[in-house]
Amino acid sequence: MELVTGVLEERKDFIRYDREGCGGSGIRCDTNSVSGAVSQRACVYCGARVVLNPITDAFHIVHGPIGCASYTWDIRGSLSSGEEIYRNSFSTDLREQDVIFGGEKKLTKAIEEVIEKYSPKLIFVYATCIVGVIGDDVNAVCKSMSEKYHINVIPVKSPGFSGNKSVGYKMACNALMELIKGNLATKKQVGVNILGDFNLAGEIWIIKEYLRKIGIPVISTFTGDSSYESLIKAPTATLNIVQCAGSSTYLANRMEEELGIPYIKVSFFGIEDTTNSLIRIAEAMGNEKAKEKAVAFTREETARLEHFLSQYKKRLMGKKAAIYVGGGFKAISLIRQFHSLGMETVVVGTQTGKKDDYEVIESIVKKDTIILDDANPAELETFMKEKGADILVGGVKERPLAYKLGIAFCDHNHERKHPLAGFEGVINFTKEINESMNSPVWEYIHELEEE
Ligand code: SF4
Repeated sequence: MELVTGVLEERKDFIRYDREGCGGSGIRCDTNSVSGAVSQRACVYCGARVVLNPITDAFHIVHGPIGCASYTWDIRGSLSSGEEIYRNSFSTDLREQDVIFGGEKKLTKAIEEVIEKYSPKLIFVYATCIVGVIGDDVNAVCKSMSEKYHINVIPVKSPGFSGNKSVGYKMACNALMELIKGNLATKKQVGVNILGDFNLAGEIWIIKEYLRKIGIPVISTFTGDSSYESLIKAPTATLNIVQCAGSSTYLANRMEEELGIPYIKVSFFGIEDTTNSLIRIAEAMGNEKAKEKAVAFTREETARLEHFLSQYKKRLMGKKAAIYVGGGFKAISLIRQFHSLGMETVVVGTQTGKKDDYEVIESIVKKDTIILDDANPAELETFMKEKGADILVGGVKERPLAYKLGIAFCDHNHERKHPLAGFEGVINFTKEINESMNSPVWEYIHELEEE
């Protein structure tokens, strides 16, 4: 079938549209954005900051113009049970003169100022676009500062133009490996590290509580509610569990190869995935008792939610959802969650999904569901209209798009203010999509449109 008009020729391979009789996904993904298409993706530096920002006692020095430093805690919702320093952003505020003469001296001064004022244990220095252009040797400056002051000053190679958001994740994971390996702890303990959970709205506390209930100790968390001291304990763990696969599978692979810690991918979005994940963690730990507890606990929680869900299903049944999120694993969980509420996913896309993710997505949606990688606003608008989506699930960049089209929206990105993970998250998610989708405001808007 011909694609709808308005899709750039170069983008056609990134979109799957009416796959009747077509086997295998074959979608183009995990590559740089097409020039001329206004990607919804963030830059490399932003990708790196997503992963590293939640470390509560880390100092983030953004080596670049002041604009890059506007990316702070305020636009991410990761919470802390301890330090609050991560809520600040430090910048070298590069100007024209620095572009001409170089910014290394300014960077050295900024690092020394932070050390003098705060006595930090851990500083990340981000190279932004302009640093990539003028060629400051950020590595050399960080190395000399680390040696001089005996603290961890770690460079993050993240010029915004040097790839896509996934490259930023990778750079952040490399910085974390540099931290861990530079402070290597060897004595093993029975327990897990949680990777790819950023404690948005306190979600990691919910997951940790579930693991405590079934008897699985948590050694370290990457990077939600973490600290320098907790991160360097990570090599002692026996298993890594990876929640946000898009950002943290690279770290999990490196930890497996270089530290001998195996990993499994998990998801705590929706009843089905939360249940399966807890049981699979217990199995991977070889802990029969924990498995029994996981089965009993998840059964109890599922039963507790039955009446609640049956009430909401009446109002949600038959509605159509569009999903546009960061990673493939979250998209898969959301499709299942909508399915369990009697809703159909008519459009689904991700910023950084991998081939495997898209194959799973294709296997659980209908043949005519539109699947797209690295979408732009024009494509999302076209497909949501064509498919008659009632709600869009996305992040801050997708919100205005939904509202302009007069359809409901659910924020499932880092800005969310209430937890959407675990069994508690099922309640919040269901209430939010119901309130947004069944709000009387849409009737007024559509009435006005008809006038
Ligand atoms: S694209 Fe470049 S200039 Fe813009 S925020 Fe990212 S690093 Fe900074």
